[in-house]
Amino acid sequence: MYISKEDKEYLIRELQAELHARLDGGRKNLIVPECIWCGKTGGKLGIYVGPEKNGKVFGMAHCFSCGRTCKDINRFVEEIGRSDLQVKDTAKFTPVEVPEFFNLEEDEIDDELVVVEMPESWKRCFKNPYLKSRGFTTDDYAYFPVGTTRGLNFKFDDYVVFPIYDDGDIVGYVSRHVWSKQDIDEYNDKAKRNNKYQIRRYNNSIENDFVKLLYNYDSIIEDETDTVILVEGIFDVIALTRKLDLYDNHRIVAVCTFGKKISDAQIYKLQSKGVHDIIIGYDTDASDAINVAADKLNEYFDNVMIAKLVGEGKDWDDANFWDIYDTFSESLFTPIEYKLSNVDGKIR
Ligand SMILES: [Zn+2]
Repeated sequence: MYISKEDKEYLIRELQAELHARLDGGRKNLIVPECIWCGKTGGKLGIYVGPEKNGKVFGMAHCFSCGRTCKDINRFVEEIGRSDLQVKDTAKFTPVEVPEFFNLEEDEIDDELVVVEMPESWKRCFKNPYLKSRGFTTDDYAYFPVGTTRGLNFKFDDYVVFPIYDDGDIVGYVSRHVWSKQDIDEYNDKAKRNNKYQIRRYNNSIENDFVKLLYNYDSIIEDETDTVILVEGIFDVIALTRKLDLYDNHRIVAVCTFGKKISDAQIYKLQSKGVHDIIIGYDTDASDAINVAADKLNEYFDNVMIAKLVGEGKDWDDANFWDIYDTFSESLFTPIEYKLSNVDGKIR
């Protein structure tokens, strides 16, 4: 049975609303919280909505609790009392052989987060010598809350601490020592020789694994943000937002993945807000990591591009406005172009 792309999207939306279902991370299955046949809760009933291959057809439903399967979307929608959703073109319906069902449990994404407390005595600040030295503006303090523990919590002395928000909740924090990497390394070399306590450049929260977090996630507005720029760290997010004046621009949002990798949970989070286009803005010294991320993202998003920073700067924080401007206007590559440009060893 042929079902057009539009009809499929419509069906997915209607089934989501009707059954309170959600798409899994791979967007291949709708997970229904309560089985329509046995009533079992916990997302045991799945409806396949991925590409038709290996005998899997759009709309086939299966419950992992009662084991019941329905391979015909038209019968399924009838069973849930929504015959209005039946697909008209039933003439070409061919019965399908599906002994082995899609593996739903394997596809499920762990995106559960716990709410995290900020370190004791943490208080937001609007002025800080270290952040000033990194170019922080009034807007940065307003849009990207940051604070210190004001000398009242020795574990965080000399750190600036950024809360990470998810749907308004604090789900983690990044705590950066205010010394330069070089100063910390020098201090630690000495401390090591004298068996003294070493300084950690970062002193981050531990409750939620960072592979499940995205910094600046709440700036992505569902159905308004279509493009997300992925960068490595918090300071890259803030620098890009400042330099491109994206503070109130919800169509393009910079978020960071805390490193050069993107996880299934992070992809799921971006998809669930309807993001279509991704620009990878990882440091271009890491072309292998970028290729891996690009291939992975390409499976899930309409457009994936790689921004190859031009000019002298080594990252977004470092780069000047015109280099960033040139990067986005003339140095965006598709994943294939990017691979080829590196094979050649030259930039187009
Ligand atoms: Zn069931």
